Amino acid sequence: MKSKPDYKNNGTFKLFLMHYKGHLGLFALDMCCAMAVSAVDLMFPYVSKKSMERYLPEGMFKTFFIVMSVIVAAYVVRSILYFIITYWGHRMGVYMEADMRKELFDHIEDMSFRFFDNNRTGQLMSRVTTDLFEIAELAHHGPEDLLISGITIIGAFLILCSIEWRLALIVFASVPVFVVFTVILRRRMSRVSVEVKAKMAEINTSIESGFSGIRTAKAFAMEDKEREKFYRTNEMYVESRRGYYHAMAVFHGGMEFVLSIMSVLVIMAGGYYIMKGTLDYIGIVTFSLYISTFLTPVRKLVAFVEQYIAGMAGFKRFLEIMRTDPDITDEENAEILSDVKGNIRFTDVSFNYRKDDPDQPEVLNDINIDIPAGTCFAVVGPSGGGKTTLCHLIPRFYDVTAGSITIDGHDIRHVTQNSLRKNIGIVQQDVFMFAGTVYENIAYADPAAPREKIIEAAKMAEIHDEIMAMPDGYDSYIGERGVMLSGGQKQRIGIARVFLKNPPIIILDEATSALDAKTEYEVVNAI
Ligand code: ADP
Ligand code: MG
Repeated sequence: MKSKPDYKNNGTFKLFLMHYKGHLGLFALDMCCAMAVSAVDLMFPYVSKKSMERYLPEGMFKTFFIVMSVIVAAYVVRSILYFIITYWGHRMGVYMEADMRKELFDHIEDMSFRFFDNNRTGQLMSRVTTDLFEIAELAHHGPEDLLISGITIIGAFLILCSIEWRLALIVFASVPVFVVFTVILRRRMSRVSVEVKAKMAEINTSIESGFSGIRTAKAFAMEDKEREKFYRTNEMYVESRRGYYHAMAVFHGGMEFVLSIMSVLVIMAGGYYIMKGTLDYIGIVTFSLYISTFLTPVRKLVAFVEQYIAGMAGFKRFLEIMRTDPDITDEENAEILSDVKGNIRFTDVSFNYRKDDPDQPEVLNDINIDIPAGTCFAVVGPSGGGKTTLCHLIPRFYDVTAGSITIDGHDIRHVTQNSLRKNIGIVQQDVFMFAGTVYENIAYADPAAPREKIIEAAKMAEIHDEIMAMPDGYDSYIGERGVMLSGGQKQRIGIARVFLKNPPIIILDEATSALDAKTEYEVVNAI
């Protein structure tokens, strides 16, 4: 298992490089092949020129054809190398992309309720999926393109110099122009690129909320409004892409101008030297032909810049999340809460959802409660009074803003979240059901539990008979979020989950609100 890079104290670029760790073998393979490919590319024009100059005029046909077959062989090798680069290089890129995705998912899983209150699912989905798509390409093509272009540009330059060094200098002057141009435009291109990603995330958010709220939309006959809402986001995306392409177009347009004007300059300067008699026609024709060897890698560099900007935009958005610390973490030497009796005590507990904003009214204010083990404690109050909030403080879904909560005398902030929550069973107001079967949903509390235990828990929660009446019994599919179940059935499956877990502390947050009086009585009795 690789250790996680230190996201706080390293720069963007360094962090990107750090992700090559663990794939250095593939990286080296990719680079070696890339180098060999550029060597072959440089060799061909040089060797063919030499052989045409030497072997043909002297009638050395045998040597000429031997040299040509060597070139054919070199191209066979080159295509094999290309295969390796394309296949293994891309795999390396995807491995890195997958590594980042894994880190990101791990990190998001560690986040507290507050994080998910403030970040929309569609946004997070985008960060984990689309934002990282271009990273693989950059990770693989980036260094390879740089290396191949670097070698061929230098190589081509040397060859051009050997023909006519003054013309070569004119050609080479385009390189600094290219660099300056890139530096000037880079800022703007990066900014729009990040913007495009943010808009894509908005599209995802809009789709997510549109589809998950489709039932409500239909109930209010609001499909058209939803469509409009989506169209607007979609247009905003088009607009941001327009900005992106605009920046790219300026970049490409400028680059193309520099590259083509170069040929004109060469002819102009060449013409001048011919008139002065220091260069012959053959020289300038060969020279012009060689320029293409030089242009290909420069074009590659242009493509690289584009790739770099798109990839880095995704990487920056990746870093934004990686650099956000979960606001609830285990203390360094947090104890493991064990042998829980279940004495819960609230001491002067105050709580506010927006702790950084002191003007916000407290949701809970100076609460003192003592719940001895083995007792049942009920909280009654108006809707919005803070009952759910109170329930959420005990498993430390949120941290209290003032005061403390203890279980058997242990402050819950000094024990591990895992051990704390292992000892608490909570049935929330709206129980979440995973898409899957009834069986899987009850077994969620303890996937290793034998079937009898699950059935027993279902019986205690008064849901067994209803499950048996379903088409496939315990293996019936319940739909996303349990849409195929009634509210009361969902609540009882939630309760069955907690029975299966059988923790010392049980929290029911209006968990029987959707049950009829008789069933409720039986469920409460079972508890
Ligand atoms: P109850 O369960 O008693 O009906 P809640 O505990 O759900 O009440 O809510 C108490 C108050 O806290 C309400 O005013 C509600 O608007 C606010 N609130 C609840 N959840 C959040 C949240 N995740 N973020 C911000 N405010 C919240
Ligand atoms: Mg509530």
